Amino acid sequence: MSETTLPASVAEIARLTVAEGLNRGSSGNVSARCDSGFLVTPSGLPSAAIRPEQVVRVAMDGSCTGPLPPSSEWRIHRDIYQARPEINAVVHVHSPFAVSLACLRRAIPPFHYMVAVAGGQDIRCAGYAIFGSQALSDHVLAALEGRRACLMANHGLVATGRNLDLALALAIEVESLCEQYWRASLLGEPVLLSETEMAEALAKFAGYGQH
Ligand code: 13P
Ligand code: ZN
Repeated sequence: MSETTLPASVAEIARLTVAEGLNRGSSGNVSARCDSGFLVTPSGLPSAAIRPEQVVRVAMDGSCTGPLPPSSEWRIHRDIYQARPEINAVVHVHSPFAVSLACLRRAIPPFHYMVAVAGGQDIRCAGYAIFGSQALSDHVLAALEGRRACLMANHGLVATGRNLDLALALAIEVESLCEQYWRASLLGEPVLLSETEMAEALAKFAGYGQH
């Protein structure tokens, strides 16, 4: 991800979260790692209309420059970059099916092999804390252990990736899984894959797709 085009890429991914039906209004936020810290969407602006020059540069100590305050969730973004060197982009959304399941405070169990795209046997739901708090960031970091995505109790979901496109793609995938789990649960109790079956899917994903 090039430093000069990065603000435009962050703004474009924020726009796409709305176009893809993952966010409405000013819900959610997007960031990408940069040399000096990370670039994050500004707080409280409609995600569909953020301009590249409004994207905020934040240092790892939380200090930032520019006229607009960064996303209220900058701690989640900062703490992920600090703890997870392989992650270069973070997408947070309030997508309808993820929010609905997160209000039940349940992990997404291995009802479908695609649950493995998030990196493990399930997709955890982080505990609740008020938005914008260090406590919420701590819960999210714990739920992301060994995973690339998690739900957030009574709030939404966080997806991460090696780059912005992959983080957005994972957010879309997790929202789809939430919808599928929801629909299957309406008909009965979904049959879960075994630990061995999920381990097989996880191993197969390691060599799957375009490398
Ligand atoms: P920001 O506009 O401050 O990023 O807040 C949106 C949000 O989703 C808070 O969790
Ligand atoms: Zn949020």
